[in-house]
Amino acid sequence: MNIKILGNGGGFSQGLPYNSFVIDHTILIETPPDIVSSLYTCKVHPSEIEDIYISHFHGDHYFGFPFLSLHLCLSGSNKNINVYGPAGIKEKLTQLSFTAFGEENPLPGWIENHIRFIPVRENESILFDNGRTPYTADIFETAHYVETLGFLLDDDKKNRFCYLPDTSWDDKFKNILLKKPEIVLCDLNGEADDKVKVHMSEKDILKNGLSLSETTIFYGTHLRQTRKSTHPRIQYVSQGEEIIL
Ligand SMILES: [Zn+2]
Repeated sequence: MNIKILGNGGGFSQGLPYNSFVIDHTILIETPPDIVSSLYTCKVHPSEIEDIYISHFHGDHYFGFPFLSLHLCLSGSNKNINVYGPAGIKEKLTQLSFTAFGEENPLPGWIENHIRFIPVRENESILFDNGRTPYTADIFETAHYVETLGFLLDDDKKNRFCYLPDTSWDDKFKNILLKKPEIVLCDLNGEADDKVKVHMSEKDILKNGLSLSETTIFYGTHLRQTRKSTHPRIQYVSQGEEIIL
């Protein structure tokens, strides 16, 4: 499994590319506003994408969908793409694309013909079957302002990767971490002294996460600024970095 970081910034940051990543160059996670730029910067061609997963409907996670779709449409892509996300995914992304580019152009027709919107929710599973390695993603909800869906991904060798998007710490994550994923890519946008806990901080992982599995490595993303961790099992990702399982 190859996880390539396309961006590491949160909705508010000091100019970092927005949080997104791609698994094996084919499964794109999140479509932030700068997604097309980040794909090219990281040498992932938009035509390689077969599945898209959007964790929740905040702009830094999905406002780039019309630009990516327009890019594929005007490039003459004939590939069909599955787009997974919370309930309302079809309505949200279709309306956003209309708002971005209007209805009198080829994009609405291209989306109608090439995008299959698939709503998902907590306790459901997605089978990403890209013709090489099939992956199963078990969906769970995080603790955020709007319905936000993370996943625990398994390949056929039982390598486990966990994506923990926008969230404050919630004790229900202990059950997921006790399954000992090798890698957890998580929202570490918070600071230990935040008055209102909207995002997790390094302190949450030090206090609650590390003791649950002695092998799991936590990678922080969705950041305000680049930073360095204080613990060898906590790291911060940067654009273009590849994590191999
Ligand atoms: Zn959010």
